Amino acid sequence: MRLAIFDGRDGENRLGVVTGTGIADVTDALPWPHDPDPLTAGWWRRMCRDFAEVRPALEKAAERAPPARDVRLRAPVLSPSKIVAAASNYAAHVAEMHDVQRRTLGRVEPWMMEFDVFLKSPTSVSGPADDIMLPPVEGEIHHEAELVAIIGAGGRPFGYTVGLDITVRAEGDRSRRKSYATFSPLGPWLTTADEAGSPAGMDIELERNGVIRQQVSAGDMLVPVGDIIAYADGIMPLLPGDVLFTGAPPGVGPIAAGDTLRARITGLGEMRLRVR
Ligand code: MN
Repeated sequence: MRLAIFDGRDGENRLGVVTGTGIADVTDALPWPHDPDPLTAGWWRRMCRDFAEVRPALEKAAERAPPARDVRLRAPVLSPSKIVAAASNYAAHVAEMHDVQRRTLGRVEPWMMEFDVFLKSPTSVSGPADDIMLPPVEGEIHHEAELVAIIGAGGRPFGYTVGLDITVRAEGDRSRRKSYATFSPLGPWLTTADEAGSPAGMDIELERNGVIRQQVSAGDMLVPVGDIIAYADGIMPLLPGDVLFTGAPPGVGPIAAGDTLRARITGLGEMRLRVR
């Protein structure tokens, strides 16, 4: 099943099922009161946890609801308790970072070449209809198109989506350099894990202004999704609705105002984003 969050008439968050013909509004099929407040957003995290229970009602509602075509999609996550991101998870990316660091830092930081996890601020999330806003900072700002998992019950992946881990290449901590507003575009929707299939069969691709910059099989990850989750969960328990970036494929590079980026992953859809 493909689940979307979209703008309701009053600007509230509505839950949609993506069908062959559009987005079916299934919000009212959830068996608990809908809480439109994005600050609390407990209904979304609860759905990530209890999806197996509510799925039949959502499927039935999706068959009945008239599909809408021209809705404004938002990121398919709401108020995650945290965004965990993997670093150095593709060998070819680790290799290219030697050159990138020599250019942007004037040296190579060996600790940054090791697999690990770090945190991005949940306020960095933006949706597939939002522009990426570049902050006025020194240094290159890079695209990292990544497979993103959304956590469900028992710390298992509930679903997957396409994400960009936008990054300032400069001195200092990753959490600062990757947490500006709009530095975590997610979308266009969440595809549940059963429908998405194994990440090993997914290709990740990013185009900048029509030129392919990143293209890799998610099967090339050094640490597969289940092992990233196990590692992160042993440090900071992953809660339903949490977001996991699984690491940058090779081909990262600078973006600039006026650019158009297209990020797509097999079976998960595509986002077209403008940079401002
Ligand atoms: Mn990344």
